[in-house]
Amino acid sequence: MKHCVVIGGGVVGLTTAWALLERGHGVTLVEREPEVAQGASRANGGQLSYRYVSPLADAGVPLKALRWLLDPDGPLRFKPEASWAQWSWLIAFLRNCRGPVNRRTTERLLALGAYSQASFARLQAEARLDAIALRAPGKLVVYRKPAEFARVAARMNGSGVEQAMSHDDCVALEPALADAGSALAGGIFTPGEAVADCHAFCTQLHERLRQHEGFRGRLGAAVEGLLRDGQGRVRGVRTAAGEVAADATVLAAGLHSRALAAAAGVALPLYPLKGYSLTAPIQAGHLPPEVSVTDFEKKILYARIGQELRVAAMVDLVGDDAGLDAGRLASLQRSVRATFPNAADYDRATPWAGLRPATPSGAPILGASGQPGLWLNVGHGALGFTFSFATANILAELVSGRNSPLPLDGLTL
Ligand SMILES: Cc1cc2nc3c(=O)[nH]c(=O)nc-3n(C[C@H](O)[C@H](O)[C@H](O)COP(=O)(O)OP(=O)(O)OC[C@H]3O[C@@H](n4cnc5c(N)ncnc54)[C@H](O)[C@@H]3O)c2cc1C
Repeated sequence: MKHCVVIGGGVVGLTTAWALLERGHGVTLVEREPEVAQGASRANGGQLSYRYVSPLADAGVPLKALRWLLDPDGPLRFKPEASWAQWSWLIAFLRNCRGPVNRRTTERLLALGAYSQASFARLQAEARLDAIALRAPGKLVVYRKPAEFARVAARMNGSGVEQAMSHDDCVALEPALADAGSALAGGIFTPGEAVADCHAFCTQLHERLRQHEGFRGRLGAAVEGLLRDGQGRVRGVRTAAGEVAADATVLAAGLHSRALAAAAGVALPLYPLKGYSLTAPIQAGHLPPEVSVTDFEKKILYARIGQELRVAAMVDLVGDDAGLDAGRLASLQRSVRATFPNAADYDRATPWAGLRPATPSGAPILGASGQPGLWLNVGHGALGFTFSFATANILAELVSGRNSPLPLDGLTL
């Protein structure tokens, strides 16, 4: 049995703490905020998208990106910075924008997704988190451009799980789409994909963790540096509220892992992809989508989470600023009202912005950091809620001195 410190109380840190406790280790979770899930895990899209995992980096994306940048309501914003972190990430991202690279990463992420789905089922069977608005309505990705829809339908993997649907089939499956009119060319439906409230999941999992005798939570304690022994091995963390010694230190601090790792001499290729969400109350008379819908060209996803409609969107490369941009929110409101005009009360929507901790390839980084005693569970990008259950178990197996249950090719530093 080891004593482990987990840095970060987002969905990745919390699931990692759970997986380590399950294997008999002691865990201290250190989180700088007074509550858990205040970073990217707070009001994300809520998708447990185990099969729709293709990363952003793909052939044709650089060209599309240019078009998106010219569209004031487009899904992408880019603010050039005099920053090595931004430009080196962009160059690496462009190198990943090739069909074969995308397909290889997608295969890895599909395996990770399948393992995550099984891991989530196991966690739920044990933790029984009952108020997380979990549903499995399936995911419908709708396309506006016939050529794009035809291209994607032709590339379907033949597994028989995904179903290509005409415009009329889409509306029959999800009547709330009728308001979008003839703007949709068709869609791809994946049954079984789930949605849940990530913030509720995190707070309830934290409650379960607190009931475990092997768990200590240190909230409101920012990690300021790592402790090392005489051999240079990482032996825990230093916080403003004191030191925490550990046999294994796990970095799971989302985007902020970059700075903490850099201070320890580890360069993590992470960059924030800023996104926005709106959470709008659903009232009598509203017709929200029951199926989880992704508007492919606009890069907007819609999910009913309990009695609220969660809309998540946008990829802004604008540095570490997580502030709300009024122009971007107004643009999101326009798109949402045009697609689902009667789905929720958008006037009372709560806006939020978060920073996706993204790697250039779209795959997370797991396992050894190169510094003895320091482990990585970072870089979950656009699918951290989805992949967290898998990456937590993989990391916990590695910390326990066993082999990863999945090949780690393409998923390490
Ligand atoms: C708009 C948007 C929509 C999204 N939609 C989805 C979706 O539908 N499905 C999906 O699977 N994923 C989605 N994601 C991605 C997902 O939210 C992230 O990948 C995931 O939340 C990352 O979790 P994390 O724990 O790594 O990071 P975070 O949730 O950011 O947690 C990191 C934690 O570390 C803490 N921390 C930082 N520095 C320190 C320090 N020095 N000391 C102590 N603690 C520290 C932070 O306070 C924070 O609590 C979305 C993201 C965004 C922005």
